[in-house]
Amino acid sequence: MEQQTSARGGETTPQHEVIIIGAGVGGIYQLYRLVQLGIDVTVLEGAAGLGGTWYHNRYPGCRFDSESYTYGYSFSKELLEEWHWKERFSGQPENLRYLNYVVEKFDLRKYMQFNCLVTSAKFDEAGTFWRLRLVDGREMTCRFLLTAIGLLSAPTPPRLKGMETFEGPSFHTYYWPQEPVDLAGKKVAVIGTGATGVQVIGALADMVGDLTVFQRRPNWCAPLNNGPISDAEMADIRSRYGEIFDKCARSPGGFEHEPDRRGFYEVSREERLALWDRLYGEPGFGIWLSNFREIFVDEKANAEFSEYIADRIRKRVHDPVVAEKLIPKDHGFGIQRVPMETRYYEAYNKPNVHLVDIAEAPIECITRTGIRTTEREYDFDIIVYATGFDAITGGYDRIDIEGVGGQKLRDKWQDGPITYLGMQISGFPNMVTIAGPQSGSASTNYPRGIEVGVEWVTRLLEYVWKHGYTRMEATREAEERWTDHVAQMYSTMLMRKAKGWFTGYNSNVEGHEHGRIRYFVYNGGSPKFRATITDVADHGYTGIVFDEPVVPNDEALSSVQRAHQRVS
Ligand SMILES: Cc1cc2nc3c(=O)[nH]c(=O)nc-3n(C[C@H](O)[C@H](O)[C@H](O)COP(=O)(O)OP(=O)(O)OC[C@H]3O[C@@H](n4cnc5c(N)ncnc54)[C@H](O)[C@@H]3O)c2cc1C
Repeated sequence: MEQQTSARGGETTPQHEVIIIGAGVGGIYQLYRLVQLGIDVTVLEGAAGLGGTWYHNRYPGCRFDSESYTYGYSFSKELLEEWHWKERFSGQPENLRYLNYVVEKFDLRKYMQFNCLVTSAKFDEAGTFWRLRLVDGREMTCRFLLTAIGLLSAPTPPRLKGMETFEGPSFHTYYWPQEPVDLAGKKVAVIGTGATGVQVIGALADMVGDLTVFQRRPNWCAPLNNGPISDAEMADIRSRYGEIFDKCARSPGGFEHEPDRRGFYEVSREERLALWDRLYGEPGFGIWLSNFREIFVDEKANAEFSEYIADRIRKRVHDPVVAEKLIPKDHGFGIQRVPMETRYYEAYNKPNVHLVDIAEAPIECITRTGIRTTEREYDFDIIVYATGFDAITGGYDRIDIEGVGGQKLRDKWQDGPITYLGMQISGFPNMVTIAGPQSGSASTNYPRGIEVGVEWVTRLLEYVWKHGYTRMEATREAEERWTDHVAQMYSTMLMRKAKGWFTGYNSNVEGHEHGRIRYFVYNGGSPKFRATITDVADHGYTGIVFDEPVVPNDEALSSVQRAHQRVS
């Protein structure tokens, strides 16, 4: 039976020892680890089902750009033996099936509550617990609050006049309907050419009657080179899982792709071209992550490589005017998240696909029947907004999180996140942002980073329970040091100049327009991040202050004591 919050002026016993918000890759794994320890934990998920990213984004073309077998969880040998990835970069339906399979296999669903959007979380200082408010008005309390709310989970529609007047179906890609959308013969508009836009445009070009793409700024894209995984290949992958995950753990991005260790200027132009030709034909992020490291820090090296990719685009797009429009002129390759594409450039060779440059002719408004730019009016049956996310901190800003002394997290993070290790925040005790802003997973193959984060958080909580603590909080000095360190790492990267979500740019979010860098991601690479946080743990959690151990109280066996007994 659920234990109720006991009344005592200030309450002492929260309903749950731990509440996890979010049932995506992160929430599921954190839940698994705490259930293993026998901790009283529940997951609150705003959606009607589990899977996070892979539950929500159902648009055609939605798929991994991590190799499927490097994306799956690594914690269970049995799971690795059982699951057969069908494609090298598997699509959303299969990814969602996978996450459901994991949850069924480990019998985790019973700890999850769906349609439970958390609207506010307030730290109760007298009781030392968190008080959560759900969208339906219910209140829930917990000692420790773990946020697994995702870094790309707050979709941003464009700020366009008249969106509500359009009479046909229109939706952000995040809200692509679950029931089939009749696309055959339809006139469809896609606004946006980021990572999602590039996926959806490549897929829709073959499915609709007529497709018009509204592009403000092109991105540098590279071929995904997807393909099926046969039984024999899967058997080989299974036999090498140990080796594969070791390689991911060694690589800065948590992928199999490792940087080329040769110096850009140490090899001849011919050798550089040979590498690029090979990488362009290979599957996945290799073209970005197995390149020379100078690409990311040296303007000249970056310009040479960008010109190589520009030539590739020119070769693939028949109309030279369209090709030039698809080549970015305001930034170099790889300093923003590289969209991986499948026949994206070839789509523009089809007679039913049109490109509208809205930098030249901006959209004035959405009309009853379509879109009006400064140049002309277009009629559509369906409008798709591929306008991305209020990345990294958007999910946090959408919850009214209040810490010690009434301080709001959204105020504290107004100019960008300030964290300790991307997982703790001074002034917000007992709250852990699993794989949060400024942690090691935000700029890597997520699940690899998420597993590292979850393991660290689990060890931290075990430490807390073993010592009988009820309160932990990062110090201000520790989080200042960490945030400075994260900011410092941007200073050498060309990425700092990018108008992308790594720097907090989003023209559809107030205050996130260009001009102020937000230090969203840790750029030191997975191995360094892992070493740093392990060192913190090994030294008794430097930078985190714990309270005095609790003395048993007769009134009720507090949840912390129960947790303590379980992990002892
Ligand atoms: C289209 C797309 C493709 C991607 N492809 C890759 C890829 O190939 N490789 C890669 O590494 N990463 C990829 N990512 C990043 C992806 O988000 C991560 O891989 C991973 O799924 C993140 O898991 P998560 O559990 O941290 O967050 P999410 O999957 O975002 O889950 C967060 C959950 O929290 C819930 N939630 C949020 N706020 C609240 C609230 N207030 N109350 C209750 N519930 C809440 C959400 O509904 C959601 O279910 C992709 C992202 C997108 C959008």
